[in-house]
Amino acid sequence: MILTKPRGIYIHLPFCKTKCPYCDFASFAKEDDKRQVYIDALVREIDTRMQKWAFEPGTIETIFFGGGTPSVHSKAELAQVLDKIKQHFSLADSVEITLEANPGTIDRSKLEQFLELGVNRISFGAQSFDAALLDKLGRGHSVQDSIDFIEVLTELFPDSLNSWSFDLIYGLPGQSIESWLSTVETALSYKPPHISAYCLSIEKNTPYGKIYKDSSHATLPQEDDLVTMYERANELFAAAGLQRYEISNWSKPGHEAQHNLIYWRAQEYYAFGLSAHGYVDSCRYQNTRDLDEYIAGISETQSSRIPNDEKLEEKIMLQLRLREGLDLDEDIQAYINTVNLEKMKKQGFISGDKTIKLTDKAQMLSNRIIAELCYH
Ligand code: SF4
Repeated sequence: MILTKPRGIYIHLPFCKTKCPYCDFASFAKEDDKRQVYIDALVREIDTRMQKWAFEPGTIETIFFGGGTPSVHSKAELAQVLDKIKQHFSLADSVEITLEANPGTIDRSKLEQFLELGVNRISFGAQSFDAALLDKLGRGHSVQDSIDFIEVLTELFPDSLNSWSFDLIYGLPGQSIESWLSTVETALSYKPPHISAYCLSIEKNTPYGKIYKDSSHATLPQEDDLVTMYERANELFAAAGLQRYEISNWSKPGHEAQHNLIYWRAQEYYAFGLSAHGYVDSCRYQNTRDLDEYIAGISETQSSRIPNDEKLEEKIMLQLRLREGLDLDEDIQAYINTVNLEKMKKQGFISGDKTIKLTDKAQMLSNRIIAELCYH
């Protein structure tokens, strides 16, 4: 019998206006004619999985439409997915429904239609307010496209009712500290209730991966600059009332992304769609990345029960990224490398006793620190 029922649902919608040269997600441009057959396959997958998981699902508190660029879809396509979800699950009155939206794919009328569907959180992929850098990112939208939509968003999404977030990227080729801070200041001038700021990761199998295969490439900001970019942005976010609650996420109180907190707390969640990764009944599963295969009805490629050691390692890795920290319960105490833990406390990288947290100076070193805590 399943003990803790997942409270969140992730839906992957892989269609985009353009394929950005740094992107390694399962996402496609120029495949719009497949959108409807994809949605049909997606609702079939929900039916099939729910028949397989023959347990009574719990109440759903979060739904996240990610991608891809979910805002390229029509209201009718999203409604088809939401109707199917409602057939199988009951939704909490306060359910958080997030939609990732990119500039140039959404306007006032579309946002109003999504609001009618119950979408109450927008994660807005502005990424940069530096026109030249944005151009190099190949995202197919301009700074003005971002500004036009933010004006609509701030009008239709008052903080008291809904929430929204800016997604920003730093560490871009050719980006100076000044350029990044100027993007941060522009973003803050719109008083967002939430910001996600991620460092660009160069992925091998992308056009960027071929150009910047050497991490010391002359145009890539180097480690010291990245640390400065992160720390200075953190100061500006804090001064604007946005508190860091995860290494790369800041929010006003009450605007934390509840769906993402499920991942970061290493809790279970459903996931449907191309390349979606879910975690249900102690099992992780992963869907195919092949669009035609998925549309033809072949979804799952891998599924495995997570060994206990792996679960603990994952919990340490994810929860230490959170400001709320990691409880040193019996299982974690038995697993963690206590010698390294004490060493890192002395070095000022970790604070706390029953609940441990990364200190400010440890945020940019988190991967190294977590690896040492899990070292056996
Ligand atoms: S819009 Fe997002 S998902 Fe689509 S190609 Fe660009 S980075 Fe990837």
